[in-house]
Amino acid sequence: MQGKIVKGIAGFYYVDVVGSGVYECKAKGGFRRDGKKPLVGDNVEICVLDEDRKVGSMTEIFPRKNQLIRPAAANVDQALVVFAAARPKPHFNLLDRFLVRMEREKIPVILCFNKEDIVTEEDVKALEDIYGATGYPLIFTSAKEETNIEILKRALRGKTTVLAGPSGVGKSSLVNRLIPEADMETGEISRKIERGKHTTRHSQLFLLGQDSYLMDTPGFSSLSVLDFEKEELKAYFPEFARWEEACRFHGCDHIHEPGCKVKEKVEEGAISPVRYKSYQEIYEELRGKRRY
Ligand code: GDP
Ligand code: ZN
Repeated sequence: MQGKIVKGIAGFYYVDVVGSGVYECKAKGGFRRDGKKPLVGDNVEICVLDEDRKVGSMTEIFPRKNQLIRPAAANVDQALVVFAAARPKPHFNLLDRFLVRMEREKIPVILCFNKEDIVTEEDVKALEDIYGATGYPLIFTSAKEETNIEILKRALRGKTTVLAGPSGVGKSSLVNRLIPEADMETGEISRKIERGKHTTRHSQLFLLGQDSYLMDTPGFSSLSVLDFEKEELKAYFPEFARWEEACRFHGCDHIHEPGCKVKEKVEEGAISPVRYKSYQEIYEELRGKRRY
């Protein structure tokens, strides 16, 4: 049977087989010799050893579409980056670091601002002005009032999506709205999906519907240290990359160079000054880190 690894703990892999449920599997010895470590998100072949106890053995890992190192995961289609529109109000530098990280991993982003119920239309417009030019799909949701949850579901359908964002923005609340048994008590769901705050969590996939999975991972919830050459950074701001050819200097970093089209676009308002500020800050940080 074919399935997907939804969780891996201490040498056991939990494999979801559509229509049959989740099987607890061990990897057959052969994997270890190949040096191929099974990852959450892997599509695998299993043979059932005990149908009643839902125990099986994993015999093959199918080729991966992609692979993330930290957090370790396979076959990720996209990321849902969640911030609150307010309470807490978005920390743009942090948000932009999440986006840079996804760009660097080549993971398409859906940007979701939750708690839409507590902001004004002007607040929404201000966020659209900042992120509109990036080209990322923007979704404003309220987990509390169930606003735009259907739109979000549609965006996740048929994909494996990693959930990213700091704590307190409503990720658990959104997950509770997204998973099928949405009418359960919040507390019960929380236990069920193990979005516990206290324990070290493992990466885990939740089944949202046929072939739709949401990956919850501690690896995408906190501030991450970015560690790469500062010259790479501009490629991870999609609305900057668009103008790059128009800068006077080839390889312009859009910092102090004269004739910089990106800075011109910031002044014109076509690129948000908020985004540019994040860029400057992250660039400076990378400069400081540079090792020779
Ligand atoms: P997480 O840490 O990102 O998983 O966030 P939680 O789902 O635990 O939510 C953090 C707090 O924000 C809780 O008090 C929620 O009740 C509240 N919250 C979550 N979503 C919404 C929303 O859409 N609107 C409002 N007003 N509050 C929300
Ligand atoms: Zn430039």
